[in-house]
Amino acid sequence: MFNKLVVLLMPLAPKFLVRIISNRYISGEDTASAVAKCQALRSKGYLTTMDILGESVITEAQANEAREDYLTLISEVVTSGIEKNISLKPTALGLGLSEDLAFSNISMIVKKAYEAGIFIRIDMEDSPYTSKTIGLYERLVKDYPLLGTVIQAYMHRALDDVKLIAAHGGNLRICKGIYKESEQIAYQGQDEVRQNFLHLVREMLSQGAYVGIATHDLYLIDESLKLISELNISADKYEFQALLGVPIVHRLEELIQAGHRVRIYVPFGSDWYAYSSRRLKENPDIAGYILKNMFRFK
Ligand SMILES: Cc1cc2nc3c(=O)[nH]c(=O)nc-3n(C[C@H](O)[C@H](O)[C@H](O)COP(=O)(O)OP(=O)(O)OC[C@H]3O[C@@H](n4cnc5c(N)ncnc54)[C@H](O)[C@@H]3O)c2cc1C
Repeated sequence: MFNKLVVLLMPLAPKFLVRIISNRYISGEDTASAVAKCQALRSKGYLTTMDILGESVITEAQANEAREDYLTLISEVVTSGIEKNISLKPTALGLGLSEDLAFSNISMIVKKAYEAGIFIRIDMEDSPYTSKTIGLYERLVKDYPLLGTVIQAYMHRALDDVKLIAAHGGNLRICKGIYKESEQIAYQGQDEVRQNFLHLVREMLSQGAYVGIATHDLYLIDESLKLISELNISADKYEFQALLGVPIVHRLEELIQAGHRVRIYVPFGSDWYAYSSRRLKENPDIAGYILKNMFRFK
């Protein structure tokens, strides 16, 4: 109750307070902080993917600026020697403005990354962009195979998309999906989404396509492990993925110790407010916990 209240009141809270609460979800505002975080995670056995915070730009200039930030990040990944893996949001690169603009920006990033041996994952956003994002991925993956995208298990269409992409050995992150979608196109119940998630993971594994199993839901982690064992899949054909700061570190450490790959999504950048607000809405317990410790509420 207290936690829900904290989240409801969040839009009224001073930004510095949200910043304190959300510190655990973002590595910092600059690339150096993200590089340091990735290095620290690597020393504990984690793989990482970096993401520059930002979404839905409203001008072409902003989209081009985001492209330049990604091109610079690629150079920094190369020189810092950290894990060669980056995630990006297509609306940050102009997909909300025009498909041509997004294609032009993303293809420049993917080309430079490919030449540097860096894997790029195109994140999936809300449903107006699902087909467009898959279209971008399909166009680019032919020339730049170090590329993957994301399929959301709450979408009714997800299995069809996975079948098509898995058939040519594509690389997919499977997640539940974070946006609010209507019941016409998306499952609403927890159980339906979980079962679909497992269908998608099974499809990827049985087709021999590489899958990122992105969830903090311990039931889904356990059921995915059963699938991996049942289908006798080798550890280089999948990985588990989690967002920085989500409190399941103990479980993730167990996975690493058991020989599974675990990748942490490390966001950074000045555009931290929207991202942090979403994280806090997903898990109000964290806001409550931190505030209680700060002010010693009983
Ligand atoms: C690596 C990664 C990449 C993702 N990329 C995308 C993407 O491209 N597109 C997209 O639509 N969605 C993406 N998501 C988000 C995903 O779709 C879900 O909304 C999110 O992971 C919550 O679902 P869950 O499977 O973790 O299960 P849940 O049942 O929601 O969560 C399980 C437990 O973890 C806690 N928890 C879950 N998420 C968070 C959080 N963010 N902060 C704090 N606690 C949390 C919950 O409180 C709960 O206790 C990504 C998730 C991960 C892990």
